[in-house]
Amino acid sequence: MAKQLSTDVLVIGGGATGAGVAWDAALRGLGVVLVERRDLAEGTSGRFHGLLHSGGRYAVKDRPAAEECVAENAILREVAADTIEDTGGLFVTTPYDDPEYADRFLEGCRGSGVPVEEIDPAEALRDEPRLNPAISRAFRVPDAAIDAWKTVWSLCRGAAARGARIMPYHEVVAVHRSGDEVSGARARDVRGGEELDIEAGVTVNASGAWAGQLAHLAGIEGLRVLPGRGIMIAMNHRLVNTVVNRCQMPTDGDILVPIRTVSVIGTTDERVADPDELEISQDEVDAMLEDGERLVPGFKRQRALRVWAGVRPLYQASAEGDTSSRDVTRSHTLLDHSQVEGVGRFVTITGGKLTTFRLMAEETVDAACGQLGEPRPCSTRTERLPDSEEGEHYRLGSRLRKREQGLQDDQLVCECELIPRRRLEETLRRRGTRNLDDIRRSLRLGMGPCQGGFCIYRATGILHGLDGLSSAEANDSLRYFLQERWKGVWPVLYGDQLRQARLDEWIFQGVLDVGHLPQ
Ligand SMILES: Cc1cc2nc3c(=O)[nH]c(=O)nc-3n(C[C@H](O)[C@H](O)[C@H](O)COP(=O)(O)OP(=O)(O)OC[C@H]3O[C@@H](n4cnc5c(N)ncnc54)[C@H](O)[C@@H]3O)c2cc1C
Repeated sequence: MAKQLSTDVLVIGGGATGAGVAWDAALRGLGVVLVERRDLAEGTSGRFHGLLHSGGRYAVKDRPAAEECVAENAILREVAADTIEDTGGLFVTTPYDDPEYADRFLEGCRGSGVPVEEIDPAEALRDEPRLNPAISRAFRVPDAAIDAWKTVWSLCRGAAARGARIMPYHEVVAVHRSGDEVSGARARDVRGGEELDIEAGVTVNASGAWAGQLAHLAGIEGLRVLPGRGIMIAMNHRLVNTVVNRCQMPTDGDILVPIRTVSVIGTTDERVADPDELEISQDEVDAMLEDGERLVPGFKRQRALRVWAGVRPLYQASAEGDTSSRDVTRSHTLLDHSQVEGVGRFVTITGGKLTTFRLMAEETVDAACGQLGEPRPCSTRTERLPDSEEGEHYRLGSRLRKREQGLQDDQLVCECELIPRRRLEETLRRRGTRNLDDIRRSLRLGMGPCQGGFCIYRATGILHGLDGLSSAEANDSLRYFLQERWKGVWPVLYGDQLRQARLDEWIFQGVLDVGHLPQ
């Protein structure tokens, strides 16, 4: 018989939205259980472009989305400071862009409240010397970089500290209905196989691009969430220090975001049939590198580290028409199913941006409180997340500053991301995981220029030394990590990255013979 659990709010989905709902509900004093079928933020939230939007991108095409971004950008800078690097943003008109768009952009920003300042292109080029020297106009906006993993982890840690149960690797396999109401769900532990029945006062479907599939489990048909797939490529260093957008209607490959030690170009928007369809073609990679060339001449000669794809949850109210995914609003949708289909105690939140997760969570928990019949005020506008209490933004160099004192008496496991041994061990124990890919998401282990080539075998040894893990289990974890990294590396095997990949191959196949380690 399945184990039983009971709670006020069951949250399905451990991306930014679900984690935001868990944090908000826990702050309101509600009992919370969050279930995620994989690791936290392994869905779209961990596969996004890294941009805390100022709203500029939507200022012409989608004003409601722009207005939400402006407001949430300002709030997150206060309450989630540690997850944000305040890079600032630029919109630049390149020779490939319609020169008339710039005036519409300026007007759109002013109309939707996006702080904007036109500057001399020469000033933009002084700040960002690698930019296309032929830019004709430049605008400053408060774009920034935001770390989704840090955000989701802080939200979940904060919620857990207030009693929430956060359960990664638990997939909802059935939604329980009693008459016209949803009474909870059954989740399966995908690692151990056990099943768990969770009875809930209200069930929140925060499963992003999978929201239609989840609604189907609840017996609700026709909830259309279009999966809009986009690819991104990480380049091996910061080609720019400011988020740079091309000043034109949103299109492919028009934003370059500096993230930690690398920079990321993206993205595309292609409608796919299934949100788990993440394969990337060589043509897409070539086109994206070509797009990069328009922003930063010589882009294609730089070393590309890795490519990946994510899937936008784009809600479409009507089943009619064949809207292109770029034409669907970037605003979010809250569906209180008691009002839409007459199914009580079940709420779906989907669409939106990572930038607007807090607002989405606030509206969702308001609706959940309505279902529970006990309104409680929201405090996430002012309550700071764990690690953001000081209100200090992340800066390049923050990691070194934090660890400088201890680095001499601790081994450095990952040079690219400055991860010392003690921190790795603490995280392995705290997360209780044997999966080095989970640790990658928690610490950014293996995310820098060597892509794990020099650090991951050390981390495997440390994993093996901890808590009696057998060598076979540690080796399995190493092989899984290498396979996952390889998926993102092979489509960009050219130039220096090809050389690095050959070196890694000699280390792992030639020296360590990973293929024949004990299993
Ligand atoms: C290419 C791309 C670039 C983007 N760039 C930006 C950007 O720069 N800035 C920005 O603000 N936004 C950006 N976005 C949008 C943003 O990433 C998403 O809107 C946001 O991450 C969605 O978060 P979510 O929590 O709703 O969904 P997700 O993060 O996908 O979370 C939903 C979770 O539900 C889980 N789930 C599904 N089914 C089940 C089940 N049966 N049981 C349990 N769990 C389940 C999934 O595994 C998943 O982890 C981008 C999106 C894409 C695709």
